[in-house]
Amino acid sequence: MTETIFSKIIRKEIPAAILYEDELSLAFRDVNPQAPVHFLVIPKKPIINLSDATEADQSLLGHLLLVANKVATQEGLTGFRLVTNNGAEAGQTVFHLHIHVLGGRSLNWPPG
Ligand code: AMP
Repeated sequence: MTETIFSKIIRKEIPAAILYEDELSLAFRDVNPQAPVHFLVIPKKPIINLSDATEADQSLLGHLLLVANKVATQEGLTGFRLVTNNGAEAGQTVFHLHIHVLGGRSLNWPPG
């Protein structure tokens, strides 16, 4: 997979507002927030998107969900939404798997 801006954030080569980090994952605020609280949870492993994940990534994917909940709780959220844009057609612009976590306002359904 090619280098993305998220690889640089993982390596601390560019700044990010990091909310959580462990050996497998990183959570940081989205630079263009779509809600009062909007952060991204990413694996440190360079997976392009969900379509690029395999059975070997099963526990890592579960870990990302648990991190999303942990950081959402840390941010004071009770209701929140997770979004993963899979592929350009779905709006993916950074080709390193990430889970958007949005909250702090009422969220409409269906999303656009
Ligand atoms: P997506 O369109 O689903 O691929 O989401 C990519 C997200 O990454 C967008 O919401 C961007 O605002 C966000 N983003 C891009 N560059 C940065 C950055 N340097 N720091 C934080 N968030 C970023």
